[in-house]
Amino acid sequence: MQIDSRLLRDFKKLLGPDGVLHQPEDLRLYEYDGSVEVARPDCVVFPRATADVVEIVRLAGRHGVPLVGRGSGTGLSGGALARKGGIVVAFSRMNRILEIDAENQRARVQPGVVNSDLSLAVEHTGLHFAPDPSSQKACTIGGNVSENSGGPHTLAYGVTTNHVLALEVVLPNGECIRFGSAALDAPGYDMTGLFVGSEGTFALVTEITVKLTRLPEATKTLLAVFDTVDDATETVVEITGRGITPAACEMLDGWTIRAVEAYVHAGFPLDCAALLLIDVDGLCEEAEAQAQEVADVCSLQHAREEGPQERVRRRRPALANLLHAGRSHSPDETAGHAAAHQRNRQEIRLRDRQHLSCR
Ligand SMILES: Cc1cc2nc3c(=O)[nH]c(=O)nc-3n(C[C@H](O)[C@H](O)[C@H](O)COP(=O)(O)OP(=O)(O)OC[C@H]3O[C@@H](n4cnc5c(N)ncnc54)[C@H](O)[C@@H]3O)c2cc1C
Repeated sequence: MQIDSRLLRDFKKLLGPDGVLHQPEDLRLYEYDGSVEVARPDCVVFPRATADVVEIVRLAGRHGVPLVGRGSGTGLSGGALARKGGIVVAFSRMNRILEIDAENQRARVQPGVVNSDLSLAVEHTGLHFAPDPSSQKACTIGGNVSENSGGPHTLAYGVTTNHVLALEVVLPNGECIRFGSAALDAPGYDMTGLFVGSEGTFALVTEITVKLTRLPEATKTLLAVFDTVDDATETVVEITGRGITPAACEMLDGWTIRAVEAYVHAGFPLDCAALLLIDVDGLCEEAEAQAQEVADVCSLQHAREEGPQERVRRRRPALANLLHAGRSHSPDETAGHAAAHQRNRQEIRLRDRQHLSCR
């Protein structure tokens, strides 16, 4: 699809010359996301405010050009790609935390805020943003909303939809609407619930009001190593059967461990069939008691070794990244694939920074 030069001119007038990319070498950086698909857009635009998004949608509509939103491009389903060409609306410059209301455990953010940046910004208040996709150092809250992302702590804390209270969105006709409220259980239809997880197909999200969650007083991480996958799965059944809800519970099978250990150096045993990584959290006494009970269950189910594993906990994000990057690759390819994605993202970040510093 060839973008009309009048549309490009209007975009540049609206966003400034550095707010629009249309040269082939620039567009190449936006033809990937975290999926295996490749599709080059015809143009990438960088709004800074909701009013810019409204105008972009209206202009694109007038010219009949399709639009797709993009956060950090870590999505695994190809949603941030312009499959049939058209315009990518990149939200990397709408990355401001607009309001933190620690007293009421709320925050209002633009969609381009990186997930872990919000938790870092509120850490001093003893709060955090609970949805924690393993990509949280890169992915945006707008992307999380569109994908209804979860993470290792989903078991206890829920997914994104459980932490989003209100949205501002721009509809395909350019109309900007808000729904939901900072209060719990806003009356009326649950429009927020409808839009969270809609993968950008209904509207472009321009503002998000989220719930913030208190940080637990204590967290204990246990590692349990098993000689059979059945023992590991039975352990999970027994833990939940006893009424314990771990904050996080992840299983790695032996093949995966052998594929990733050379990269993450977490000290995982290479000769096991499966291992469990289990977090319990809460008040100190509660976490201590739950950790003991989980350890007892692991022993009952023939775990080879178990115990608190701080080192493993610290390495968990790196491990998760590698697991995702390598989901259909051999170990060698996995490392290469991860490095290529890393390079791609660094280039994009550098490009964004250059554009920002030009303004
Ligand atoms: C290493 C790695 C680990 C991951 N771990 C997890 C995990 O643990 N759990 C999990 O759920 N996912 C995980 N993911 C997938 C991905 O990170 C999440 O889906 C994340 O929420 C995507 O955010 P993003 O900002 O990168 O969005 P993008 O990939 O840029 O976009 C994702 C979708 O959201 C839409 N979108 C983005 N911003 C907007 C907006 N403002 N308005 C409307 N639509 C928008 C896009 O059009 C697209 O459809 C992982 C991915 C990687 C690469």
